[in-house]
This record gives sequence, structure tokens and C-alpha cells, in this order.
Amino acid sequence: MRIGFGYDVHALAEELDLVLCGVKVPSTFGCVAHSDGDVAIHALCDALLGAVALGDIGKHFPDNDMTYKGIDSTILLSRTIEFLKTEGYKVGNVDITIALERPKLRPHIDQMRARLAEVMGVEIGAVSVKATTTEKLGFTGRGEGVAAYAVALVVPAV
Ligand code: MG
Repeated sequence: MRIGFGYDVHALAEELDLVLCGVKVPSTFGCVAHSDGDVAIHALCDALLGAVALGDIGKHFPDNDMTYKGIDSTILLSRTIEFLKTEGYKVGNVDITIALERPKLRPHIDQMRARLAEVMGVEIGAVSVKATTTEKLGFTGRGEGVAAYAVALVVPAV
């Protein structure tokens, strides 16, 4: 088995959609991004790519490529899963932590897990999503941005 780690940050601004783990979370502000700004999926893709040493999300889906303008990040995730398959691996389990001051994500966590499991083609039990505030400290605490961390274990597909 192999392990990978991913990290991503996006700035927050008023009147944008807040999409996390493929779920649109009710909010008056959202992520500033070239894609749909799904910071959690971006961290997850980097973790999966890292596990098979295939570089990072920016290498495969450049943010200066108009193909990816406003793209649904679940599409990037399903393509990342295809890259894994090409390398002979499948997802073992993944674990994501989202750092965001507000809104509270707890009511949406199970929907996020279900959506990611569906896109990756794994059992929901293989997908963990957690959320934390940063106690009003730093850029996340001030509500200026959102950060996501992900780890992924991949196993031979056989
Ligand atoms: Mg990103």
C-alpha cells in the first residue's frame, strides 16, 4: 500500500458558491477559484496523486487552462481515480479535514462522505470528512479563507 497527503487553500468572498466535497453548502460567501473552488476535493486529489507519485492537481488540471474554468471538481476527482487505475491502484481509504470558521459543516458531513464515495466508487466507510474551526486564529479564523488537508491510502487494484 501507499500513502499520500494533500493540502489546499482558497480565499473566500461574498456572493460565490461554497462547494465542499461536491456538496453546495448554504452560505452567503464562497471560494474564489478558477474551478468551482472545492478546496476539499483539491486536497483529496493531491493526496491521491501523491500516493502514486503522479505530481499534483496543478500539473494535470492547470488553472490557466480555460477547459477547467468553473469546472465541477468531482470531474477532476473521477479523472484522478482513472490515473490511479492506470498505475494499478485503487482507493483504500481517505480522510479529509476542512478548516473553516463558518458556516458549521456538521449537518452536511454525511452528504459529503456519500458524494465522495460515489465519485470514487468506494464504500462510504472508506471516506472520512471532518471539520474544524481554527478558534478565530489565522486567515481561516478571520473568515478570509478555507483550508483543507487530506490523506489517502491506496492499494493495488488487482
Ligand atoms: Mg484549489
